[in-house]
Amino acid sequence: DRLVAADADGEETAVEAALRPKDLEEFVGQERVREQLDLVLRAARARGATADHVLLSGAPGLGKTTLSMIIAAEMGAPIRITSGPAIQHAGDLAAILSSLQEGEVLFLDEIHRMSRPAEEMLYMAMEDFRVDVIVGKGPGATAIPLELPPFTLVGATTRAGLLPPPLRDRFGFTGHMEFYAPVELERVIHRSAGLLEVDIAPEGAAEIAGRSRGTPRIANRLLRRVRDYAQVKADGVITRETAEQALDVYEVDGRGLDRLDRAVLTALLKLFGGGPVGLSTLAVAVGEERETVEEVAEPFLVREGLLARTPRGRIATPAAWSHMGLVPPQQQAG
Ligand code: ATP
Repeated sequence: DRLVAADADGEETAVEAALRPKDLEEFVGQERVREQLDLVLRAARARGATADHVLLSGAPGLGKTTLSMIIAAEMGAPIRITSGPAIQHAGDLAAILSSLQEGEVLFLDEIHRMSRPAEEMLYMAMEDFRVDVIVGKGPGATAIPLELPPFTLVGATTRAGLLPPPLRDRFGFTGHMEFYAPVELERVIHRSAGLLEVDIAPEGAAEIAGRSRGTPRIANRLLRRVRDYAQVKADGVITRETAEQALDVYEVDGRGLDRLDRAVLTALLKLFGGGPVGLSTLAVAVGEERETVEEVAEPFLVREGLLARTPRGRIATPAAWSHMGLVPPQQQAG
């Protein structure tokens, strides 16, 4: 339920769908991936062929699903969306593959979480557009080869390094999605504000962008919350002041840290003098589970250079002290 979570919350999908860019032109940022993909798709179109398989790696909310839809749109092809965890048996995958139309895009989110047998079936499908369907069990089992229409697989993963090399090698193109720069997020926010028919000043967009953790999904979510605030508390226009006030109410600070992040930093700084302190001790001090601190709060704090994980425990960086408005003990003494 965190406002700054990078994963979509269940009810968000409809709103997100309305805000998705429809073609490469509209897709903000990720210049390198966009340019390379543009070439891959143009070349395939010129040959009248199905596009090569595409692997997209990057953190949640950076636009992998959106890009897969754009790939289908640019190729004038239908798209089927599924995910690794949804494919537990090879049979599940066989059913999907055998029902694809010629040229269709199959988007496989969290491809690294597919079961092993399904993964092996996918190798053959990607390379030869063929699968062996096993009928029967034990010694009487037979493999029935099944021809598939050519299709484009778009796989998405949080880290390409998680994929077994034989799978990785079968993609013709790999795009690494980076976190977005604040100016790019400002463009995302202006675009979304236009679609939502919200009046926003450039400084208002900049304020939201700075708190969005480099992630368009979070930028769009914060924009919607700030819009609510502006409607109720102001005249509906998002200025820097309304954005600041709204995000203070929602407890998302100037750098995109929320209450949990700040609680972790505060404990680390005030109770443990900036560390080093063990993860379990820190978690108890914050009143959270170990996993919550490690998996929910820490990745962003580490990325922001506010916290470091060392063999001796967690330590706060000088940037953490200054962000929280505190003075490190050795400087106090001096
Ligand atoms: P997940 O892996 O969690 O599903 P994702 O990487 O697939 O995330 P998307 O669902 O594609 O992310 O994007 C999340 C939201 O952010 C969508 O509403 C989308 O419109 C918006 N968005 C993402 N990238 C861009 C972009 N480059 N330009 C404009 N909007 C974007």
